[in-house]
Amino acid sequence: MNQYDLYDTMREFSGCEISPRRSEYLSYILEKGGSIKPKDLADHFQVDPSTITKAVGRLADSGLVYHTPYQGISLTDSGRQYAEFLVRRHRILGLILCKYGLSREEACRQALQMEGSLPRTFVDKMCASLGHPRKGICGDIPYDISCCSRETRPGERERE
Ligand SMILES: [Zn+2]
Ligand SMILES: [Zn+2]
Repeated sequence: MNQYDLYDTMREFSGCEISPRRSEYLSYILEKGGSIKPKDLADHFQVDPSTITKAVGRLADSGLVYHTPYQGISLTDSGRQYAEFLVRRHRILGLILCKYGLSREEACRQALQMEGSLPRTFVDKMCASLGHPRKGICGDIPYDISCCSRETRPGERERE
């Protein structure tokens, strides 16, 4: 199976396929509505445009973004789904850390450090234990049809 197929069958992704940095790029493109100019991405992350070109090339090879020279970078359907997962992972972890005493700011910062190795299966369990919340500490939490539409099992907290 090549990488392209992997992301074509996105339902099965673990969430740990791409590097933390590329994950941040993907989340940021989603935050900007799904497309962005390479220069804006480079400016936001304060990196050299050539770094962006390289990273975006890898994301395009994985089928997560389209990159057209004069129009910029946009998320593919798989890329959008992946980015929504990344945002959900960040915000679910942030909520968990908040619950255990961190301030919103600390939780947001710490989540960024920790989230890269947190697989989707665990994120889904944490999401369920919190009752599939829709509001995170730094923004809305995307609804995931395969996680958030599931019945809450007995013993788990019902959605508020
Ligand atoms: Zn945050
Ligand atoms: Zn959920």
